[in-house]
Amino acid sequence: MHVLVTGGAGFIGGHLAQSFLGDGHDVTVLDAMDPFYDLGIKRHTVDVHERIADDNESNYRFVDGDVRDQALVTELVADADYVYHQAAKAGVRPSVEAPREYNEVNVDGTLNLLDAARDTDLERFVYASSSSVYGGREEYAPFAETDPTLPVSPYGVSKLAGERYACAYHEVYGLPTVALRYFTVYGPRMRPNMAISNFVSRCRNGEPPVVYGDGTQTRDFTFIADVVDANRTLLGTDAADGEAVNVGSTDTIQIRTLAAEIRDQLAPDLELEFAERYDADAEHTHADTAKAQELLAYDPDHTIREGVAKFIEWYERNREWYEPLVLAS
Ligand code: NAD
Repeated sequence: MHVLVTGGAGFIGGHLAQSFLGDGHDVTVLDAMDPFYDLGIKRHTVDVHERIADDNESNYRFVDGDVRDQALVTELVADADYVYHQAAKAGVRPSVEAPREYNEVNVDGTLNLLDAARDTDLERFVYASSSSVYGGREEYAPFAETDPTLPVSPYGVSKLAGERYACAYHEVYGLPTVALRYFTVYGPRMRPNMAISNFVSRCRNGEPPVVYGDGTQTRDFTFIADVVDANRTLLGTDAADGEAVNVGSTDTIQIRTLAAEIRDQLAPDLELEFAERYDADAEHTHADTAKAQELLAYDPDHTIREGVAKFIEWYERNREWYEPLVLAS
């Protein structure tokens, strides 16, 4: 079986590719090595893939290329049994500065892949969507897939457009597509510019963790292993074809509580630092995962405290190479 993972040098795609290789599947990674954060982290991920592929005698190909390149994308999709489309310009805040670029990569790039998949016998096309498609909420409540989608950031709009195209290609062309709406994913090799990596790396370096706003925002943080499990299930079921499905942990926490707990563990003498809140950031995220449970038997294994403990353990073991790259980003 041959899996194409776009964005496979990145955080989530990197873990997916690693898991597929570990199972002996052939994997092609397409990644443009976008310098959104230090490329050393992505190069490390590709090295890990090559090592696992050697150990498992599976075929691994890394293609340094762009999802906006239709000819390339068409060639790669033609060889694949499954496409896991994770490539994107990620991050809410930078999308406010460059909405058009987000649209080109996240929407046009997705369309290129869907078009390439249209006339093939692809087993499944899995699209990485986001909780940001729900947008801001007046009142706090878990997000269900039946809720309105009213994204407030250019990033959220682009992720929703890609998701709707994936669903439309299922409706109109019968392409087996599934969109997984990830809720803030964290874990080993995570992007440096996210709350948990920021809190841990700053505390480890004697600098106060930075909380945006008053920190009473809540997040449903999802540990990477649970996200990988949801994706792997899609290798073996068509139950979610044509659907958008939440993938969260349902265990929410206030940002300032999380920052304080990490600080208490790693650098108890530090005070939290507060910075101005970004308007495009959601106040609360909380996944209703009933649909994922029903269609994918999804049952996340990690509470936020268990996942953070695993991340800190991994961080300590990998501090030598990872920390300088996080701090450089
Ligand atoms: P990431 O930035 O680590 O990975 C994305 C990868 O896409 C990067 O390696 C980047 O080089 C690549 N890329 C960017 N532009 C490209 C292009 N034009 N052509 C080919 N490759 C390109 O981010 P991530 O956190 O691993 O996110 C993966 C996916 O999950 C994204 O689609 C993102 O929108 C989605 N998502 C992530 C989270 C999260 O919390 N991490 C939450 C919701 C959704």
